[in-house]
Amino acid sequence: MVVKASTVTYRALSLGAGVQSSVLSLLLSRSDPRLVELGYPMPNAAVFADTGWEPEYVYRHLDWLEEQLQYPLIRVSAGNIKTNLKKGLTASGHKFVDVPLFTVNKDGKKGMLRRQCTNHYKIRPIYRRVRKLAGGQRGRPFPKDTHAEMWLGISLDEVGRMKPSREPWVKHRWPLVDIGMTRRDCVAWFDSEYPGRYLPRSACVICPYRSDEHWLELKQSEPASYEEAVHFDRWLRHSTKNPVRKLLNGRPYLHAARRPLASVIAEREETQESNGVNPFNEECEGLCGV
Ligand code: SF4
Repeated sequence: MVVKASTVTYRALSLGAGVQSSVLSLLLSRSDPRLVELGYPMPNAAVFADTGWEPEYVYRHLDWLEEQLQYPLIRVSAGNIKTNLKKGLTASGHKFVDVPLFTVNKDGKKGMLRRQCTNHYKIRPIYRRVRKLAGGQRGRPFPKDTHAEMWLGISLDEVGRMKPSREPWVKHRWPLVDIGMTRRDCVAWFDSEYPGRYLPRSACVICPYRSDEHWLELKQSEPASYEEAVHFDRWLRHSTKNPVRKLLNGRPYLHAARRPLASVIAEREETQESNGVNPFNEECEGLCGV
């Protein structure tokens, strides 16, 4: 029996607008010969899922990137994580906290909420849009013998994050891994091609998955956003009208030390020690490290 080969109907780059996916988007735009040789032509589009609460420097970087690329950059959204979180709601309006806050229960037991924001605000909107662009129709099976490709900006030093797609209509590929580029290689390439240009790490302003180094970067690059995170961290525990607190058993914190963010970072500024937390290389790479 002859098995009919599946046709690729759409090639999408999942763009987190952080280090790796930004560099990958630029390499693809230049038709880098290493990528072309391995079957990576220019994608149909780069797709960025906007949670609505990234630092301004990430949005500025995204605008700049859009000007550089020879293919479209599509922005999608499942809603504003800030607005929803402050009401204790998920993207789909359920009363639930989907951000991975650190907690301490009354008995002193430490915990951490399950990270579901990645799925709600990143994975779902990107997949929904790409499925449609690739020829899929809502509520109907994907056209037979066709599939889409999703290219992910995971680098060689992060191979543990490579996971096949759970959806049969889309196949994942990892161009940076295929051409052997590490995160360090990406930074070096960017610095040599765009000397003096800031290449930010991406993540929501209040993302608890930040190392101290990343918190300090936010504080130095965008003090107003850092203050917003500090204010939010306090609000989590002290506001009497706090819907988040009402949904949790324990006291919530943004920092892994389960102490007020402002205190921990002030101490770090003095000692310059790192907490060593680096759950997904400090970057929400389109799929928040999944
Ligand atoms: S950056 Fe952090 S808070 Fe934002 S969606 Fe990703 S994991 Fe959630």
